[in-house]
This record gives sequence, structure tokens and C-alpha cells, in this order.
Amino acid sequence: MDCLFCKIAAKQIPSKVVHDDNDVFAFEDINPQAPVHVLIIPKKHVATLNDLEKDDCEALSRVYMAAKKIALDRGVADSGFRVVANCNADAGQTVFHLHFHLLGGRKFGWPPG
Ligand code: AMP
Ligand code: ZN
Repeated sequence: MDCLFCKIAAKQIPSKVVHDDNDVFAFEDINPQAPVHVLIIPKKHVATLNDLEKDDCEALSRVYMAAKKIALDRGVADSGFRVVANCNADAGQTVFHLHFHLLGGRKFGWPPG
């Protein structure tokens, strides 16, 4: 499949790996928007949140467990962090393999721009 994040998870394209298990892969965002900016993905190709299926629930909960661990490891668990998934055009999704941005290390505005 011609998918950037599938290739990154398969290590066919290099990335700065943060977490790697059977279901979940995490790596540094190439264009960080905060001192901590890690992308967490299910290894299974799911294009957008709209395409999520019931069978993906286990992998999705592992995504959040990885987020919790990474936030702790990076020292932002207590200060605060944000986990964001952009879905389709209005949210600004540019890579169509479901991914969760873990952002931390600075204050974020609300509502988001
Ligand atoms: P989104 O706009 O939510 O689809 O986010 C896509 C993210 O992927 C952006 O934050 C990009 O900086 C990031 N990105 C694109 N290509 C790479 C890459 N090769 N390695 C790491 N992050 C990437
Ligand atoms: Zn993919």
C-alpha cells in the first residue's frame, strides 16, 4: 500500500521511533508544533476516524496507553498535554493513515484555530 505512515511503521522510511509494539507505532513529528510532538498510529492501515471499525478498538486503546506512557516519559503528564486526531479537510488532515498528535511542553489555546 502506498501510504507514508504504513511505510514508516514498517521502517521502510526512517523516523525517530518513540514506541513500537505489535499494534502501535509512535515517532517524532517531522515538523514539531510544540516541544513534545509525537505521532501515535495504529499499525493497521485505517485512513481516517470515519473508517474505524469495531475490531480496531483494542489497537485504539493501546494508542491511548502509549500516549499515557510517552507523556510520562517526556515529563508532560503533570504539566499537561493534548492528544489530537484531525479528520478530513476541515480539520486539516494531510496524511490519510489515522494518527494521533501528542503535543506538550507549552500552553495550548482553546478553542483550537
Ligand atoms: P495531519 O495534518 O493531522 O494529517 O498531520 C500529519 C503530520 O504528519 C504533520 O504534523 C506532519 O508534520 C507529519 N509528517 C509528515 N510527514 C512526516 C514524516 N515523514 N515523518 C514524521 N512526521 C511527518
Ligand atoms: Zn497506512
